[in-house]
Amino acid sequence: MKLVFDHIDFTVVDHLQSILEGEGIRTEIRNLNASSAAGALPVAQVYPELWILNNGDETRAKAVIGEFRSTAAGTPPGPDWNCPVCHELVDGVFSECWNCSTPRP
Ligand SMILES: [Zn+2]
Repeated sequence: MKLVFDHIDFTVVDHLQSILEGEGIRTEIRNLNASSAAGALPVAQVYPELWILNNGDETRAKAVIGEFRSTAAGTPPGPDWNCPVCHELVDGVFSECWNCSTPRP
């Protein structure tokens, strides 16, 4: 087990997990309820964490994460958008609503 990524926003961790799993890397998310816990305990700063199950995957995982970071930072995929169903503001990197999974219109 090895921690390879963490982020304040669970949707980002979840998204990256999908990418890694798609590459055949087995992963696990910890501190899944961190955001609600953080809401109850403002002092605790615990971010959702992405762990790989096999340390042998670390190099590959880091490469994928590096690519993910540079893609996310380098080429803005589009402006933030409002979900037509639940009206949440969704970050432009996501093609579906983090709240209700409605695809971007
Ligand atoms: Zn929505």
